[in-house]
Amino acid sequence: MLDIKITKTAAPKAKPADENKLGFGKIFTDHMFVMDYTAGEGWHDPRIVPYAPFPMDPATVVFHYAQELFEGMKAYRTADDVVQLFRPECNAQRMQDSSDRMCVPQIPVEDFVQAVKALVELEKDWVPHIDGASLYIRPFVFATDVGLGVHASKHYTFCIICAPSGAYYAEGIDPVRIYVEDEYVRAAPGLTGFTKCGGNYAASIKAGELAEEKGFAQVLWLDGVEKKYVEEVGSMNIMFKIDGKIYTAACTGTVLPGVTRRSCIELLKDWGYEVVEGPLAIADVMEAGHAGKLEEVFGTGTAAVISPVKELDWKGDKVFINGGEIGPVTQKLYDTMTGIQWGRIPDSKGWTVPVCKG
Ligand SMILES: *Cc1c(COP(=O)(O)O)cnc(C)c1O
Repeated sequence: MLDIKITKTAAPKAKPADENKLGFGKIFTDHMFVMDYTAGEGWHDPRIVPYAPFPMDPATVVFHYAQELFEGMKAYRTADDVVQLFRPECNAQRMQDSSDRMCVPQIPVEDFVQAVKALVELEKDWVPHIDGASLYIRPFVFATDVGLGVHASKHYTFCIICAPSGAYYAEGIDPVRIYVEDEYVRAAPGLTGFTKCGGNYAASIKAGELAEEKGFAQVLWLDGVEKKYVEEVGSMNIMFKIDGKIYTAACTGTVLPGVTRRSCIELLKDWGYEVVEGPLAIADVMEAGHAGKLEEVFGTGTAAVISPVKELDWKGDKVFINGGEIGPVTQKLYDTMTGIQWGRIPDSKGWTVPVCKG
C-alpha cells in the first residue's frame, strides 16, 4: 500500500464547457500523481500534487538516451454514474515488462493500480459525461540522472496525468485506409517492439508522416527481418478475418501486447471463432483480398477501441474490404467492448474495476 500524500490545487481550472470538442490529449486535469525512485532506497514519496511542469537539468538522461516508457488507459463514466477502469492490472503488468527491458525499476502492480485509482477519484468530475468520451490516463516513467554517460539511471520519476478526451468517432465509425510500409520497420527480434517506450514512436513518425501525405490514416508494419509478415498498425494491433477465421500476429517480442487485443481474442473465442495467433504473410492477405476472402480487417487499441479498415495498399497493389463498410464481427466487437467499458452491458468477464461513485 502506498501512503499517498495529497496536495490539492488552490486554483482549480474550469471544466471544458463543450464535451463534444475535447479532442484527444489536449486538456489536462488539475492534479498529477508523482513518485520518485532512488537506487538503494526504492520508490518513495508517492504524492498527488497540482498539475505543473517539471524543472529539469538539460543534461537529464531521458532527454539524451530516451530511457522512458509509458502506458495508456481510460476511466469511463457509466450510465449509473460510476467511474470505472478497464483491466488496469494488465497495464500495470505490461509496464513491468516494459520496465524490465528498459532497465527501469519496476512498480508493483497493486501500487500502480492504487495510484491510478487515487488520482482518478480525486479528478472524478473531469471524467466526461457524454457518450463515447472518457478520461484518458497516461502513466509514464523516465530516467532523471544528470550526466551524459550512457548507463542505467539511478534516479527515476513516475508520473500519471489525465486528459478528458472526446469520442474517437465523433462523426460515426469511419473505416480507414492503411498503407503497408515496405521501407521502414518498427521492430525486430531483440529490440523493444513489445515495450511501450517513446523511442518506438520516435522511430515510427517518419513513415506515419509519409503515409499521411499520401492520404492514409496509418501504416501497417511488417516484420523487421523479411518485411513479409504483418505485425501491427501505428498505435493499434491488427486482426484479419479471412474465410471465417481470425488472424493476428503473435506477441513474440516485436508486437505490443495490447489489452484491447487480448480482450478481443477472448471475446472472439467465446463466440466460437477460431483465432490464429501467428505469422500471416502480407502476400497471403492481398491474395485473400483479391479472391474475395478477406472479409474484415480492424485495428484494436485503447484510443479507438476498434478501428475498421477499408483499404490496404502494398507496393501499389490495393485491396478493398467489405465495400468500405464496417463488418459484422468488427461491429459486434466494438459494441461489446464499449458496452462493457461504459457499463451498458453486464461485465461477465470481470474486466471492469469501479473507482468511485461519479
Ligand atoms: C498501446 C499500443 C497498442 C494497443 O494497446 P492497448 O493496450 O490495446 O491500448 C498497440 N500497438 C502499439 C504500438 C501501442 O503503443
